[in-house]
Amino acid sequence: MNPLNRLVVATLPLVPKPIVRGIASRYVAGEKLEDAMSTVARLNAEGCMATLDVLGEDVTRLEETEETVSAYARALDEIASRRLDSNISVKLTALGLKMDPAFARAQFARIVEAARRHDNFVRIDMEDSSVTEETIRIFLEFRERYPKVGLVLQAYLRRTADDARRAAAVKANVRVCKGIYVEPPQIAFQDREEIRDSYAKTVETLVAAGCYVGIATHDPIVVDRAKATIARHKLAREAYEFQMLLGVAGTLRRRLVAEGHRLRVYVPYGDAWYAYSVRRLKENPSIAGHVVRGILRGGR
Ligand SMILES: Cc1cc2nc3c(=O)[nH]c(=O)nc-3n(C[C@H](O)[C@H](O)[C@H](O)COP(=O)(O)OP(=O)(O)OC[C@H]3O[C@@H](n4cnc5c(N)ncnc54)[C@H](O)[C@@H]3O)c2cc1C
Repeated sequence: MNPLNRLVVATLPLVPKPIVRGIASRYVAGEKLEDAMSTVARLNAEGCMATLDVLGEDVTRLEETEETVSAYARALDEIASRRLDSNISVKLTALGLKMDPAFARAQFARIVEAARRHDNFVRIDMEDSSVTEETIRIFLEFRERYPKVGLVLQAYLRRTADDARRAAAVKANVRVCKGIYVEPPQIAFQDREEIRDSYAKTVETLVAAGCYVGIATHDPIVVDRAKATIARHKLAREAYEFQMLLGVAGTLRRRLVAEGHRLRVYVPYGDAWYAYSVRRLKENPSIAGHVVRGILRGGR
């Protein structure tokens, strides 16, 4: 990270909220469900599918999870009534996983029931390594009850080769990503190439087992390797999808859609947009440069 970006990231909490909001508007659909619905409608019109993420993770009080559960239920109702092409992505820590796993399961069960009513799909996002095993277990439990539940595996974790075999054994629907949390070298590859190799191997293991794979990346090299795997296995268009974050790598996204691949955009929205934006800014220092420019211009 260059010194200026490092400084920006360190002083981010001091940056006025309106400036962060201006930058965040590219990566977050808005605060309200209505904002999310119009973003999804626009993406659908561009030939992309969507997955909705109600922002809010790592709650400190279990009562806070109630709003998340009802926000997902409302989102599922609206997706159905507007006939939009979108599923949902859920973070189990937003349902209290780190405080009370049994409670989080019960809350997740309510979201899964809401999805079942609309025959929609629920992806469980993967979070930091303290919850990897519990998240996989919860996925395996719920998948037995409702097949339209999916998992995420992070290529940077050394354990992922084993987890991919576990997922392959049940023909899971898996999103593969590099992994976003800072993890120590004992458990996670740090080297860019090692992570790309692990990514390609994970996709290969899953595809070879007949799993539906979501290839979540903006890295053109990872995309090309995945395309080679898709071609080698002669996968039908409906057997996989690419996935990208809202506001990131628009050119690559449009190219993949034009080539005929299915592509899903991750659409975060909700009151917790500020925490999400700060995390995005911290993880991608190049965006921090935009913060500086925002400050110099007086913000928007
Ligand atoms: C749909 C989707 C779902 C995800 N779900 C999870 C999850 O459940 N758990 C998890 O740990 N991680 C998740 N991630 C994040 C993922 O693990 C990576 O941290 C992130 O995608 C960056 O890795 P990359 O493969 O795009 O490659 P990189 O090499 O990091 O990025 C390639 C290029 O893409 C651009 N880029 C990448 N990320 C951003 C960004 N945030 N903002 C602006 N530009 C960016 C940059 O130009 C960068 O040079 C998800 C990512 C996507 C796309």
